[in-house]
Order: sequence, then structure tokens, then C-alpha cells
Amino acid sequence: MAIRVWDYLPEYEKERTDVLDAVEKVFESGQLILGESVRRFEEEFAAYHRTRHCTGVDNGTNAIKLGLQALGVGPGDEVVTVSNTAAPTVVAIDSVGATPVFADVREDDHLVDPEQVAAAITPRTRALVPVHLYGQCADMAPLTRLAAEHGLAVLEDCAQAHGARHHGRLAGTMGHAAAFSFYPTKVLGAYGDGGAVLTGDDTVDGNLRRLRYYGMEERYYVVRTPGHNCRLDEVQAEILRRKLGRLDDYIERRREVADRYAEGLAGVAGPSGLRLPSVTEGNDHVYYVYVVRHPRRDEIIERLRAYDIHLNISYPWPVHTMTGFERLGYAEGSLPVTERLAREIFSLPMYPSLPPDTQDRVIEALREVLTTL
Ligand SMILES: *Cc1c(COP(=O)(O)O)cnc(C)c1O
Repeated sequence: MAIRVWDYLPEYEKERTDVLDAVEKVFESGQLILGESVRRFEEEFAAYHRTRHCTGVDNGTNAIKLGLQALGVGPGDEVVTVSNTAAPTVVAIDSVGATPVFADVREDDHLVDPEQVAAAITPRTRALVPVHLYGQCADMAPLTRLAAEHGLAVLEDCAQAHGARHHGRLAGTMGHAAAFSFYPTKVLGAYGDGGAVLTGDDTVDGNLRRLRYYGMEERYYVVRTPGHNCRLDEVQAEILRRKLGRLDDYIERRREVADRYAEGLAGVAGPSGLRLPSVTEGNDHVYYVYVVRHPRRDEIIERLRAYDIHLNISYPWPVHTMTGFERLGYAEGSLPVTERLAREIFSLPMYPSLPPDTQDRVIEALREVLTTL
């Protein structure tokens, strides 16, 4: 049987009754848009984080977009982020009329380098968007210090880090606001699209609620500025409520998968040139993806296909090298660490319901390939 980096069907098999019951509950409720399920999911997601507010939105990209707008970011502003992220981080910054500015990352954990952020700040910088990449948090203390010094907003991109902790604090509770995606592959994934923004600030939350609902506070009447239609769907919210109760368990299982890789690959990791993920001190990693590194990555992926193992690269192209962002003016070579990592990284299968014998097939095949490269 073919092995892929992600598959939701084993989970659906186990949780089918609960998922279908959630769908039925919403369909029978008589309220299909912004009803009880969205309201209660927002309450419960905020409570999980011990944060004042959560606004459900339609996806993670719009969570970042609305988050930035709610914080006052707009045309003419610069927003500092990274280039080794899912393109939507940058698409969202661009969509509010702001200019994305890229800071390079650290070689060991692939997370933003605070010194590079400091160097990227100009008088036009308005916000920082640190990405908690792969499931571990960016180095927040120096970033919040920089933000305070320069009067910048901090929006955490938590799309890959539900439930991750940084010196004990949950991802999404360290900036002025935090954007989450519930795209199906994520650590907390819906059965379709979904997203949310957390904030402790009443005014920012008011902005978010208006912006996701055309710019309305009351029905049919737009106030202040026109907004968008970015509501979280009622069905997805009800499914997410149930899955939120299992989030810590999903994370536990992801960590078990990570431990099994570390054990199974321990012998080959160093000598063969394979590098396993490094967890930075103070971080509790939730392993959204299990990203390893090897200079001959392309050959390894190719040879694993013969074993019917189909790996993925998160992400093959740094955003600044994409033709869609050419006008930002970043030359090849301008972010050397980011570019080097993009050439060497690849992801091994990772999801909570990954069967151990399937994982062992990956470990075995990878060991064989590495010892005969
Ligand atoms: C998935 C992801 C997004 C976008 O979320 P969508 O729900 O797909 O719009 C944004 N940023 C990061 C880091 C992501 O991984």
C-alpha cells in the first residue's frame, strides 16, 4: 500500500460516528451560519488558551489578513516575516496592501533569527509576523522586545503550532493577536477549511468580528470600513469543538511518532548526513510536520518511490524566490540560510493515526536508501 506524508482516513474511521453526529447536530439546529457551534467553539478555543477572545474565520490565510487589518496594518506599511513558510503567510500580508519584508532564519531550528529581524526594521515597519514553523515556537522574547522598542504589532502565525508551548506559554498567547488555520492537515484540523484569530484586546476583537462580517456590527449596516465575508462555517466549528477535546491526545501521539523516528533512525542519522529535527530549549514541539535534512534529498525521495513511499517537501521554494513575489526585489542568494534549507529538507509521514507498522516501513526503507546512497 502506498505511504504518504498525511492521510486522514484512518482517523475518520475511528471518529466517524462523532464527526457525522456533529454534522447532523448542525443541520438539525435550524441555524446554519454563525450559530451556537461557532459561538461555543470560539469560547472553548479561547478558554483552552486562557485568552479573552477568539473569532472564528473561514481559513488561516484570512485569519492572518483580518488579524493584520484589525491591528491597523495597511497600505504603505512593512511587515517583517520569514520566507521559509507556507506562501499564504506572505499572500495574506500582501493582501492588506502591506509590503512583506523577509528575515533569514537560524540553521539549527529553521526559525526566524531575531537579529535578522532587528536588521530588517525600518521607519515604515508596522508589524512582525513570526511563524511557529513545523510545530515549535519562534524565539518570542527578543521579538516582543523589538516590537515594544519600535512600537510594532506582533501577529503570531500559529497555523502549524496548535498546542505548542514556549517556556510554558501556549503558541497564540504571546503576541497582540494570533492567527490559526484548521486546514485538514493541521494539528487541529477541520473536515474542510477553517481558521481563527485569538487576542486579549477588546478593541482588536471588535475589529475582527466586524471585518469577518462585511464590516457590520448589526445586521445590514456597515460601519467604519467595509469588511469581508470570512465566517467560520457552523459544521466545521462543531467538528472542531469535538476535536479540540482530543487536541492534547493528538499532540501526544505526534510526539510518539517523532520519538519512534528518532529511535529508528538514530544509527544512520549522523554518519549518513541525515539531520533529524532539532528542538530548541524551552520549546514543546507538536510536530505538525517531521522535517529532516540531507544534501542529497532529491535522490532519497526518488529512491523511496520504489518502496511506494511518497514524501513531501515543506516547502520546496522560499517565498522570495517565487515569480509571484518578484516585485519585492529579493535576489537569489539574499537569504542564504533559508535558501540552503529549502534545497535539503524533506518531510517524513506524520499524523496522529499513522500506524506503527507503516512508520516502521518508512524507517526501514530510509535506512536502506541511506546506507546505499
Ligand atoms: C496552513 C498555513 C497557512 C494558511 O492556512 P489556510 O487555512 O490554508 O489558509 C498560513 N500559514 C502557515 C504557516 C500555514 O502552515
